[in-house]
Amino acid sequence: MPLTITNLSKTYANGTRALQNVNLTIPTGMFGLLGPNGAGKSSLMRTIATLQDADTGSIMLDELNVLEDKDAVRRVLGYLPQEFGVYPRVSAEELLDHLAVLKGIANNKERKEIVEALLQQTNLWNARKKNLGGYSGGMKQRFGIAQALLGNPRLIIVDEPTAGLDPAERNRFHNLLSEIGENIIVILSTHIVSDVTDLCRHMAIISQGQVRLTGDPLSVMEQLRGQVWRKLVSKDEVAAVQAQHHVISSRLFAGQTIVHVLSDTKPEAGFEEVKPDLEDVYFAQISERR
Ligand code: ADP
Repeated sequence: MPLTITNLSKTYANGTRALQNVNLTIPTGMFGLLGPNGAGKSSLMRTIATLQDADTGSIMLDELNVLEDKDAVRRVLGYLPQEFGVYPRVSAEELLDHLAVLKGIANNKERKEIVEALLQQTNLWNARKKNLGGYSGGMKQRFGIAQALLGNPRLIIVDEPTAGLDPAERNRFHNLLSEIGENIIVILSTHIVSDVTDLCRHMAIISQGQVRLTGDPLSVMEQLRGQVWRKLVSKDEVAAVQAQHHVISSRLFAGQTIVHVLSDTKPEAGFEEVKPDLEDVYFAQISERR
């Protein structure tokens, strides 16, 4: 039961072309939508989540027409938006119960069981009586997943969920996502490459409103094999290397700079070939369009 997006476009009133003819097929499992800030990820996520309309194109979840049958989609959708606000003076248990009522789970006993199971699953059971205002960033995000899971969704959308989490919280959050991503579609929108490397079997890179690449992380890395070269240069040499070569990334290392260059052949003496990782794939895609 894939999610199929066809020729989707959206231009905002101010003329920003946020989505340009987007085509994607998203299968069951964790799907990573990777792109820099401003790429159009949230616009696409909000459109799939039925929160805004596209100008043209279609989105189908199996036989469900997402852009038309909005109520039906909302019943099978869980959404963790980029800015997930919580009521600070309410406990996790109370808010989850309240949200479960809104989701239509009317039976008290059933609701109590569901709320308890979700608090256990997201590892918030011991903190269930605590006000959400006192939750850490990671706990808030796990609460966000708990509310997104209400009503057994077939599709879950999480928009930039790990920004601002410390490494331990991020790890815990990754484990939670990978558990729930086994039987349903989970779309993870992120600008953090390692979120996708760690979690996703399928992915797309989007920039300037356009899909640049789709595939599975292992094969897209393999496709770049033989084209990524590395050199350690001094800071003063960086500009010259950039002028001569297609530099896809540069980062500091022990006071010097490691540059990665895209080239079909060895660029010059001193460069060595590197096995491409997903960051190379990502920067190769977005650096061409800067
Ligand atoms: P991302 O989630 O990848 O950072 P967004 O979908 O938020 O990207 O934004 C894509 C582009 O659309 C950006 O240039 C952004 O400034 C613009 N944009 C987003 N929302 C609106 C809006 N409501 N009105 C006008 N422009 C918008």
